[in-house]
Amino acid sequence: MAHPDDRAAAARDLAERDRAVLWHPYAPMPAALDAVPVVRAAGVELELADGRIVIDGMSSWWAAIHGYRHPVLDAAVTDQLERMAHVMFGGLTHRGAIELAERLVALTPAGLDHVFFADSGSVAVEVAVKMALQFWRGRGERRERLVTVRSGYHGDTFGAMAVCDPETGMHSMFGDVLARHLFAPTPTPSFGEPFDRSHIVELEQLLDTHRGEIAGVILEPVVQGAGGMRFYAAGYLAEVRALCDHHGILLIADEIATGFGRSGALFGCDHAGVSPDIMCVGKALTGGYLTMAATLCTTEVAHGVSQAESGALMHGPTFMANPLAAAVAIASIDLLIGQRWQDEVRRIEAALRRGLAPLSASPAVADVRVLGAIGVVEMAEPVDMAASQRALLEAGVWLRPFGRLLYTMPPYPTDDAQLATICSAMGAVVDGAS
Ligand SMILES: *Cc1c(COP(=O)(O)O)cnc(C)c1O
Repeated sequence: MAHPDDRAAAARDLAERDRAVLWHPYAPMPAALDAVPVVRAAGVELELADGRIVIDGMSSWWAAIHGYRHPVLDAAVTDQLERMAHVMFGGLTHRGAIELAERLVALTPAGLDHVFFADSGSVAVEVAVKMALQFWRGRGERRERLVTVRSGYHGDTFGAMAVCDPETGMHSMFGDVLARHLFAPTPTPSFGEPFDRSHIVELEQLLDTHRGEIAGVILEPVVQGAGGMRFYAAGYLAEVRALCDHHGILLIADEIATGFGRSGALFGCDHAGVSPDIMCVGKALTGGYLTMAATLCTTEVAHGVSQAESGALMHGPTFMANPLAAAVAIASIDLLIGQRWQDEVRRIEAALRRGLAPLSASPAVADVRVLGAIGVVEMAEPVDMAASQRALLEAGVWLRPFGRLLYTMPPYPTDDAQLATICSAMGAVVDGAS
């Protein structure tokens, strides 16, 4: 065991070398705040290079739903490694891709019968948009506009960025480079509140005004993630489906954050009993082990796309359907479905409600909301990143607040004591801001 001072020095060394060469997500060069080196992870905990052990309240950005070094998931990767790490998917196939696709078709809402494997969530959204546009080409129409809602987030590539919230999604910076899509207001009311038609008139008007130009509607079902951590009424989503049917246009559901139980339903669409025409999954697909995403579509969409002049869906990532990722995704899905995941998510929901509700009394807090295994404390002012990170780590927790949002989506095996630790760490940030 290294001396604690040696470990602290080693951690500082890594942080300094990192700062010299590495970009981090949404950061300048060098980053404003040093990255925290991690050397190991197990269960729901990260071991930092300086020797501290902290609970990962982020599930590595929604992905590590089963925690780290799960023996079943580790075995799936090592077993697959003995057969092949990768093989091209152009003209070749393998059992992992087939079995994973079959599982996704079985678990996702009815009608989504065909699967395109992508290598990240953003690429899955690109493929969804390409499918939608090409579907209309196949019908002999040129429809290239999408309708979406404000406060959305769909990824960082240019096609995905064009349907992110126009203010937080950097539309002003990239102006003319981005496709010009149509934005309805942020969905209301909040999850659990009664929905009526008055909540959706603007979206309805957009569909009316631009009829004939619109290929489809794209949104995150029920939970808006990185665009604001908001939970909206399932009735809104059901009405969007009805409006898409009425106009004969496609509904694209981005389930990259919501998929695999996070919101209390297996998919966000399940809260509303809705089947989209195209659906994206990612993040938790491989249990946080490897990068993989998928775009599913109906047979009608698949046929439309294939009738376009190209006669094919013109997309094909080098690492499409990577066998290691497919193997661990199958294991992760079987692990999830094979346990009483609804009970686990409900248990987390109850613990987060209990632990976070008292924070709403603070004048520094604008709102506290919990849905499934997602807990959000919206602050009145932007969170001081350096101070909050220090307070969180001292409390034994890793969280990554952004803007005014302090939030957690812990791995499902996080126990009640660990959930209480996460909530009190969030309380320490609130105290620091009060
Ligand atoms: C994270 C996310 C994406 C982008 O996924 P990446 O794997 O980061 O490219 C797209 N849509 C939603 C809803 C997301 O949460």
